[in-house]
Parts: sequence; structure tokens; C-alpha cells
Amino acid sequence: MKNIIFIAPPAAGKGTQSTLLENKYDYKHLSTGDLLRAEIKTGSELGKEINEIISKGEFVSDELITKLLKNELAKVKHQKFILDGYPRNIAQAETLSSIFDELGIDNYTTIYLDLDPETAKKRALGRIVCSQCGASYNTYFQNLMPKKNGICDKCQGELSQRSDDNEEAFVTRFDKFIELTNPLLEYYEEKGVLEKVDSSMDTEDIFKNIENILGSDDVDN
Ligand code: AMP
Repeated sequence: MKNIIFIAPPAAGKGTQSTLLENKYDYKHLSTGDLLRAEIKTGSELGKEINEIISKGEFVSDELITKLLKNELAKVKHQKFILDGYPRNIAQAETLSSIFDELGIDNYTTIYLDLDPETAKKRALGRIVCSQCGASYNTYFQNLMPKKNGICDKCQGELSQRSDDNEEAFVTRFDKFIELTNPLLEYYEEKGVLEKVDSSMDTEDIFKNIENILGSDDVDN
């Protein structure tokens, strides 16, 4: 199966779909947002700087994120992987192309999770995540609510809102997506590696669509 690059507005379900692919097909999930949140958790000076940027919905510098990602990609180059959150602009896409060349990676597809702003906003503002295992729930959708208020179904960890899932940061993140990330669709379309999935559907239906895309070349390995 091909390596995957997800391109999606905030709260379109990149993280959820990545977890499903990880569990079913043994993909390695590389999320640049998770890498940054892990650095924040260490309490380092760098983590504090990153937290200030992320909480406002801004992007961290291309230089920093590329360095973090390159280290992780080198570790998984012999496995199949999902890139979630990178590239986010054309400069990052071009850098990624060079990293792939350097590491000898040429088998990938780009999946665009398309979602309208209103639904994305509802999902972002309702999202709560587990501080221990990272599982994601949503208080706006009956079928995505945790069984016990504020407690993770899977590990009993505490659930809380991400610092960038507030209305102001959401608007900044969505606008940034339209301005910077949207042009990537053209970039990958020209390369002939762009697939589109309607992300307003249920999680299971989105997953089936992704499986169809991946299955259309080689399902067995
Ligand atoms: P995510 O978990 O993908 O929604 O990312 C959360 C936040 O991390 C983003 O809003 C950015 O502030 C930062 N971030 C993640 N990936 C990148 C990237 N490729 N370039 C710049 N900033 C990023």
C-alpha cells in the first residue's frame, strides 16, 4: 500500500482516520501537530515558545517543523507511513519532495479531506482529547461523546479541549488553511497524486472511501 499525505482543514478528521489506518493496516502515523505537542509537554523553553504560537492558531517556522519531521521520516522510511499536518504550504511541499528524493521514497498518494467551514468549526469547538492516550471525542455529536463526562472510554484519562480549539484560533487556522494549504491541491494535482474525500460523512464512511482509494492499486502489501 502507498504512503499517505493528508491535506485537510482543521478538524476534518486527519487524526481519527490516521488512527484507523494505523490499527487496521499497520501504518506509522507521523503527525507534526503531535510532535509539537510532545515538545510542549516536556516543558522546555522551545516547548513554551511553540505553545504560544499554536494557541493562537499560527504556524511554527518551516525550519523548525521540517527539522522535527525529517528526523522522524528517516526512522520510518522502510515502513508505510501517513503524514498528517505536513506539508502546510508550497515551500514545505517542495522541501518534502527533496526529502523524499534523499530518502528514496517515491510511493505515495495525497488525500484531501474536504470539509465546509461550518462543520469544521462545530467539530473543532466540540472536540475533547484524552491527555493520556490522545483519543479524540466530540461533544457536538451524539455518537462521538465519551460514555462518562470528561473521562476517556479507553484509558480513563482526563479529557480536555486543545488550546487551539477555541473560536478565535479556529478562525485563524481555517483562514491560514485557505490561504496557504489550499494551493497544495493544485501542486499535487499537477503531479497526478491527488485524491479527494468528502469529510462531512461519518467516520466509517470516510474510512471506506480511503480504503477504496488505497485498494485501487494494491491491497495486499
Ligand atoms: P494539527 O494537530 O495538525 O492541527 O496542528 C496543530 C498546530 O501545530 C497547527 O495549528 C500549527 O500551529 C502547528 N503545525 C503543525 N504542523 C505544522 C506545519 N507543517 N507547519 C507549521 N506549523 C504546523
